[in-house]
Amino acid sequence: MQISDQYYDETMEENFSVSILFNEGEALEGYISSYGFAALIYNIKSEDYILFDTGNDANILIHNLKEAGVNASDIKKIVISHDHQEHSGGLNGIYNKNPNIEIYVPIENQVKFNRKYPLAQVYGVEGVLEIEGNMYISGQLGNYLKEQSMLLKTEYGKRILLVGCCHPGLYDIFNAFNCTGKIKAIIGGLHDARSFTCLESVDFIGACHCTRNKDILEIRYPEKFHKIKVGENFLF
Ligand SMILES: [Zn+2]
Ligand SMILES: [Zn+2]
Repeated sequence: MQISDQYYDETMEENFSVSILFNEGEALEGYISSYGFAALIYNIKSEDYILFDTGNDANILIHNLKEAGVNASDIKKIVISHDHQEHSGGLNGIYNKNPNIEIYVPIENQVKFNRKYPLAQVYGVEGVLEIEGNMYISGQLGNYLKEQSMLLKTEYGKRILLVGCCHPGLYDIFNAFNCTGKIKAIIGGLHDARSFTCLESVDFIGACHCTRNKDILEIRYPEKFHKIKVGENFLF
């Protein structure tokens, strides 16, 4: 896969590569952009591919995955942030080619995903869980719209947060990982978040997908805000 060096700490060896496979807006050449979110994480140490969300369409997901040089059968685990079509709609594209896959969903969605993907190992998650070394998911958060987020921790202590739509609110998500002030990068949809105090200590803001206040973020944090394009790849 192509690896760029847009967010690269030269003094340390990187642990994770995060590729954007689904987002509306701009796309790099060869990639298709569409409504929704999906990010492919490559754990450089374990050589595992983990998919965070799947976008709204299986064909587009598979196309972009191929463009990144990865096969559906290479993916070991899928984390679904929440059961909205634009986050879970592409899952069947991976499942059809790789039915024994591990799928991690908020606990309230476990029964539904079990029925829909009977050959997969579906885990309904309630609280923080380390799905493999230094890769954590929050488990189900939120009172009304339930959602989970993902946190990557590098060996040199940098924490990277991946979010679907942020329905439970940024503050509760940061709190779930007990990480306020320690998260250095955030990538994903922030929906209609208006209070950005938790982002003060973050030095890479890849707010995309459903983020309504991108303009405000861009003006407030011109050096930190990054306009995400489908196909982009970040190393941490
Ligand atoms: Zn969304
Ligand atoms: Zn949503």
